[in-house]
Amino acid sequence: MRIANNYKKIISSLPKDVRVIVAAKTRTPEEIIQVIEAGAKDIGHNYVQEAINSFSALGDFSKEVNWHMIGHLQKNKINKALEIFDFIQTVDSYDKAVAINKRCDDNIDVLIEINSGDEKSKSGLTKNIEQIFNTVEKIISLNHINLCGLMTMGPVVDNPESLRPFFKETFNIFKLLSDDNELGKYMKILSMGMSDSYKIALEEGSNMVRIGSAIFGPRR
Ligand SMILES: *Cc1c(COP(=O)(O)O)cnc(C)c1O
Repeated sequence: MRIANNYKKIISSLPKDVRVIVAAKTRTPEEIIQVIEAGAKDIGHNYVQEAINSFSALGDFSKEVNWHMIGHLQKNKINKALEIFDFIQTVDSYDKAVAINKRCDDNIDVLIEINSGDEKSKSGLTKNIEQIFNTVEKIISLNHINLCGLMTMGPVVDNPESLRPFFKETFNIFKLLSDDNELGKYMKILSMGMSDSYKIALEEGSNMVRIGSAIFGPRR
């Protein structure tokens, strides 16, 4: 009940056009089923194998939701990832997009990850607008890749308010791409904001938030 209530409370506090990805890492199938029964349509996972385990454990429930890869995708996991994910939010280079495209015989929805914190330890495109335009142009030419927008994490901070500048910068990139005659139509989704930061992210233009602990409680 607690999980379903948390989920419903969050949903009812959000504008209708905001999509909530339930970040399900470390959660049991029983916990995930509770959110699906409460109406969740999008489940996010960080690891391919964990997602596959969770997918099979969910049985028929797994077919009621879209599966989003929100963690770093290694090249050698792409084949497996394509078996279950509907959405890959962490395309972090043209090379990665090519590798996905090559292994995909259907179409896959993707977001391009922006390394908004400029962190060595994180993946994603660096905030160089020329390079980003260039990469987006090349990625949209790949025939199995359906580019839907951008995603960012931002650095780990003590106070979520400190994330605001990173969200702002990512929104500015999103906006520049959106205003482009050719590329604008690929910019539908801006995925940013987690449990601590989604309210700030929404103020800065996000329309997709990825929420785990505010729904399930602290991670084990
Ligand atoms: C875990 C995770 C989330 C959700 O984090 P919470 O703080 O539990 O809401 C969102 N996005 C990504 C990429 C994650 O790995």
